Amino acid sequence: MISSCVSASVGANPTKLLSEKRTTLSQVRQIHAYIIKTNLVTHALSVAKLVNVLSQSTVPYDAVSVFAHALSCFHDMRGIEFSVPSALKACGKSCAFEEGKQIMGFSLKTHLWNDPFVTNSLVRMFLELGMVKLARSVFDKMPTRDLISWNSLLSGYLKAGQIDMAREVFEKMPQRDLVSCNAMIDGYGKHGLCELAEEVFMDMGVRDVVTWTSMISAFVLNHQPKKGLCLFREMLSLGVRPDAPAVVSVLSAIADLGFVEEGKWIHTYIFSNKIHDSYSFIGSALINMYAKCGQIENAYHVFRSICHRRNIGDWNSMISGLAFHGLAREAIELFQEMEREELKPDDITFLGLLSACNHGGLTDEGQFYFETMQVKCKIVPKIQHYGCIVDLLGRAGCLEQALEVIHDMPFEPDVLIWKAILSASMKHNNMVLGQTAALRAIELAPQDSSCYVLLSNIYAKVGRWDDVSKVRSMMRKRGVRKIPGCSSILVDGKVHQFLVGKAMDVGYNQGVLSKLEEVVCKLKSEGYEPDLNEVFLDIEEDEKESQLILHSEKMALAFGLASVPQGVPIHIVKNIRICCDCHTFMQLVSKIYNRQIIVRDQNRFHHFDKGCCSCRNHW
Ligand SMILES: [Zn+2]
Ligand SMILES: [Zn+2]
Repeated sequence: MISSCVSASVGANPTKLLSEKRTTLSQVRQIHAYIIKTNLVTHALSVAKLVNVLSQSTVPYDAVSVFAHALSCFHDMRGIEFSVPSALKACGKSCAFEEGKQIMGFSLKTHLWNDPFVTNSLVRMFLELGMVKLARSVFDKMPTRDLISWNSLLSGYLKAGQIDMAREVFEKMPQRDLVSCNAMIDGYGKHGLCELAEEVFMDMGVRDVVTWTSMISAFVLNHQPKKGLCLFREMLSLGVRPDAPAVVSVLSAIADLGFVEEGKWIHTYIFSNKIHDSYSFIGSALINMYAKCGQIENAYHVFRSICHRRNIGDWNSMISGLAFHGLAREAIELFQEMEREELKPDDITFLGLLSACNHGGLTDEGQFYFETMQVKCKIVPKIQHYGCIVDLLGRAGCLEQALEVIHDMPFEPDVLIWKAILSASMKHNNMVLGQTAALRAIELAPQDSSCYVLLSNIYAKVGRWDDVSKVRSMMRKRGVRKIPGCSSILVDGKVHQFLVGKAMDVGYNQGVLSKLEEVVCKLKSEGYEPDLNEVFLDIEEDEKESQLILHSEKMALAFGLASVPQGVPIHIVKNIRICCDCHTFMQLVSKIYNRQIIVRDQNRFHHFDKGCCSCRNHW
């Protein structure tokens, strides 16, 4: 009865169907019944095919059952090795740990233990089950190991985040191939070991597109976007065709650097090479790049142009981009549009939205969405969300309320939260709270120079110069170095960098300094007074003034005024937060010189035009 029914739907030789890709699950089940009925269950090859197909299906545990049944029916064990790897794979996929261990016990007692296909499958199964130690013990006991065994163990350690163990395996490997080296570059990059990644990269005789992409991502992840971009250019010049992940990585490097011309070039390249068809992350990478390069209109254009295949990542990038530009109302509108389209927001959507409210000074709206997120959308806030709310309340001067949020949240406050309290205390002149917050922040991040700087600023503000020098000597003792302010400006396709106190590229020191002097003179005649409160050093007033004038963004601006034609906006990228004095300075220059100036600092964009800034002095 069953067999005749099977014959009707799956043909005369049903096991042959198992080799075909399009066999449906119900057909597979019928074949299984047929195999039992016709006693083919003792036929090793038929069983192997069935176990293999089931192990790749949506019901991998069925493969384990079929294998167990076959094992009890087999007269001898010839041919069983063909089923074992698939059965182990199925155990891994269906979390069948006990069954996997039984197959291991069975393999140990038979000839199977000498079969590298079987032992490699055991290693992979334990890794899939997250049991790295068991995988290692199988690996150590294996009679023979091939490249696949080594690579499996390597990727297992990398997946588990055990970079030291991965490194040990990588160094001990008798031979390495592209797979091993690419995995290691990726792993080193993700663990902040960019130099080691570079070493592996340099040693490789043959590289493929994955190698290049992994190395570019490693640079981007480790805050070396310029190197990432250079490597991408080198890759192109060698004729290696970038794939979608490579393009996404380089777009992220460009976003960090703020070089929109490079970004536009890549945008064109993506379309003329039809890279966009294959990968859903490209849209959000482009939106992010344009937003971070100061061209929010272009970001919006990309966002609108991909409306037919927009995913949540695209929405999130657009909302975060608007937040970065302080366009809080627009971010809220976009969120409402999302609600109208009945799209489900995720935690990243809310992070963007809260940060928009934060940057735009919308305290009530921020609190409203923090609640919406938890009550209506049932999303559990992460520490970053709490950080946003604490910052929002702190900036608005609601320090008590901010402290209450910290007290009630289910996490220990991290360094970012203490830093938010710290800068809010500075802004609202609460020196006692500021000091506490600074000390807590230093405790959590003893190597983060900005916490020490802020603490010494607190003491300086009230003239406690003894404490200022104590903080400085603490920094020296711990080997903490202050991150020097650095600004870059792109003129005629070339990046010019300025470091606080001196121009980094030799050659235009003098020109920049005399232009800067001229600008300061003109501004002073219009009423500009340097804000000496920004200089937290116990030095003479006129010395304070010359320190202030040499802030890197002022030098970059002077250079821009001299070399960017009138009518073209001046784009400056700064590595740390812009200070109050520089902010006022930019506002005045935009008015007196009738120039549009766009400054991106660590936190956000400032668009200066006709004497005003888009941040409305809220940053
Ligand atoms: Zn400054
Ligand atoms: Zn501003």
